[in-house]
Amino acid sequence: MTMQWEQLEQYQPVVVKMLTKSLEKGRVSHAYLFEGQRGTGKKAASLLLAKSLFCLHPLEIKPCNECRNCRRIDSGNHPDVHVIAPDGQSIKKEQIELLQQEFTKTAMEADRKLYIIEHADQMTTSAANSLLKFLEEPRPGTVAILLTEQYHRILETIVSRCQVFSFQPLPPALLANDLIEQQIPPHMAFLAAHVTNNYEEALELSRDSWFAQARKIVLQLYEMLKKNDLQALFFLHDQWVPHFQEKQQIDLGLDLLLYIYKDMLHIQSGQPDYVVYRDKIDDLQQWALACSQRQIIQSMEIILQAKARLNTTNMSVPLLMEQLILDLKEGKAFV
Ligand SMILES: [Zn+2]
Repeated sequence: MTMQWEQLEQYQPVVVKMLTKSLEKGRVSHAYLFEGQRGTGKKAASLLLAKSLFCLHPLEIKPCNECRNCRRIDSGNHPDVHVIAPDGQSIKKEQIELLQQEFTKTAMEADRKLYIIEHADQMTTSAANSLLKFLEEPRPGTVAILLTEQYHRILETIVSRCQVFSFQPLPPALLANDLIEQQIPPHMAFLAAHVTNNYEEALELSRDSWFAQARKIVLQLYEMLKKNDLQALFFLHDQWVPHFQEKQQIDLGLDLLLYIYKDMLHIQSGQPDYVVYRDKIDDLQQWALACSQRQIIQSMEIILQAKARLNTTNMSVPLLMEQLILDLKEGKAFV
């Protein structure tokens, strides 16, 4: 995938602004540390930086993505751009030593060399120490880019040698689009992208049958809340309690319920693009008409209180949920 700075800027505006500014001023650091969750564009940014530095026909600082150098960087074949990734479980000392040998030679084609270390937190201690020496004596024209999803696991001494850029979690809509590209149905993609902003977790969740069923039960529970107490309580014990057993699952169930109310608020304030339960938009519109903003906010507070109670007390779950249902109905959100 060939990306341009503008595309990356859509979801990493701060990082892109700072990197492009340093390119414009010709003040590229000799070592960077890109930290952030998987799928936030760290690798894309490092390749863009490499291409911006090596491109034969850049448009100002933008790489052309077509010249020999751009193409060789994209395919991993540029002799002066090296990418190191874990060999099995870790990045070994030998890999770093090989890199150092490579870099003590003069650059093959230009006066520049660049290396990218993926999952830099997976360096063995001896690999990290070798790298540290390397970073302490930067050769002119050398650029190091370390990538990590686990910033806290990088040696403090390495961090202090690098300019650190934090890549922000993806906005849910962008993450949902990535999931849809992986053939995830939109209604599952949007929900999973709100539950987590980790791409892999979201992908796993959206393929999980427990999660799909959880979504169904939560929507049904909301409908039951509009009926009489007995029916809602019966549904609770018959469907909800057996499905949501672990504390984490119950907490997630409450989040899924909360999203329904948030969706109604978004509809009331004319922001349907933020709706999580996309396939339910017609129902949500009707539900939103039936209650005031104050009632919705009150119901959200009730759910948040239940979440807090779940995490801070040993209250039995059926009891906690019964209380929640009665409070939600009492909140007169359904009059
Ligand atoms: Zn180029």
